[in-house]
Amino acid sequence: MKIEITRVTSWKDVLNAARFTQRKKPLDKEPSIEFKKKIIRAEHSPLRCLMFNIDFYDIPYYSMGHFVRHVHAQPFVSSSRPDVIGSNAPRGEQLKSDPVNMRLFLNAQEIINISRVRLCNKAEGETRKIWKEVINQLHEIEPELANACRPNCFYRGFCPEIKPCGAADTDLFTLGVLDYQSSLY
Ligand SMILES: [Zn+2]
Repeated sequence: MKIEITRVTSWKDVLNAARFTQRKKPLDKEPSIEFKKKIIRAEHSPLRCLMFNIDFYDIPYYSMGHFVRHVHAQPFVSSSRPDVIGSNAPRGEQLKSDPVNMRLFLNAQEIINISRVRLCNKAEGETRKIWKEVINQLHEIEPELANACRPNCFYRGFCPEIKPCGAADTDLFTLGVLDYQSSLY
């Protein structure tokens, strides 16, 4: 399994979308970290101008099936057709665990949204591991955004799951919520 993240727009696009809403002229500069944190914290619409390609190589077919349910990300999935991949195996013998490649073309807000459910202990284990690796790698290129990517119970301060994940009953829960909140400032 391999993951590659590429940012395909810039923070300048976010800045100038925000300036447009204020009837201000565009600027040709990278905004400050304070500006980035403010937009991430508020989750205002200009955040959707920050776009990424997240490329997954050799993830299980079933994990792809989980990620494509996040409908605000545009997925591209490698074909599994035997005639395309040069396999003799009949389709009925292909496994849900067979490897597939997937690209998600998505914005920063959707990365936060996917994290809320896929980082949760209630998410399927392998898919959670894959998304955790995405956020680990995101830390290296967009640390402020990666800090905002948390499972729902830390994001909302309680576990909203129908069968709660149990995180809210642990001693570390309050610390986790505080860590999330302080990382946004
Ligand atoms: Zn939970």
